[in-house]
Amino acid sequence: MSINDETRYKMVFYLEKLGYVKSETVKKAFLKVDRSKFIPENLKEEAYRDSPLSIGCGQTISAPSMIALMLEVSDLKLGLKILEIGAGSGYNAALIAEICGEKNVVTIERIPEVYQFGMENLKRAGYKVKVALGDGTKGYQEDAPYDRIIATAAAPQVPQSWKDQLKEGGMIIAPVGRERYYQELLVLKKKKDGTFGSNKYGGCVFVPLVGEDGWKE
Ligand code: SAM
Repeated sequence: MSINDETRYKMVFYLEKLGYVKSETVKKAFLKVDRSKFIPENLKEEAYRDSPLSIGCGQTISAPSMIALMLEVSDLKLGLKILEIGAGSGYNAALIAEICGEKNVVTIERIPEVYQFGMENLKRAGYKVKVALGDGTKGYQEDAPYDRIIATAAAPQVPQSWKDQLKEGGMIIAPVGRERYYQELLVLKKKKDGTFGSNKYGGCVFVPLVGEDGWKE
């Protein structure tokens, strides 16, 4: 086992001990995906710090504990169709691909340089995940409807297109808040009649979701 693998295993057990990683599915995905493959060269040694890290253009790869919390509340299973908003480094998309299957994951990114970075990381790490370039505040109609829409950038409110592109029984998992640098993690579940039930999972801080139905630049 390399030092990199060893540090990854230590991080996963730490996340488990603190209660962020709860299920075998999420644990297996974290043990499998090498975070060091999704961060810039100069930060490789920080790969397994439980902290967000810069990926350029003012954007970040989220902290592993935050990602674990979101994946756990998403209740992911093999075969579910997932749209991730905010591809960033591609790390979260790789974790989701490990659980749901790579053909079932679409991730969208608005900044061309970050899109390129995420796409290349995923390709190099061996994941055939679809990466789209565009404004995720409009969702991604081409592959809709989805079982889950997981946003990794903070929305001032949940865009209507995400609600429309969700299957019955599907869930939106997103940091939402009217303050630009403080949000609450929301989980919305689509009912039979098209209305939504919602649950809150505490405070969080994400980079803003910028776009037509999000924050303005
Ligand atoms: N999931 C990412 C990962 O695993 O590295 C972390 C994403 S980072 C916290 C949030 C990303 O959302 C940034 O790369 C940002 O450019 C992107 N973003 C912000 N607004 C967006 C939008 N309207 N559509 C798509 N991506 C957006």
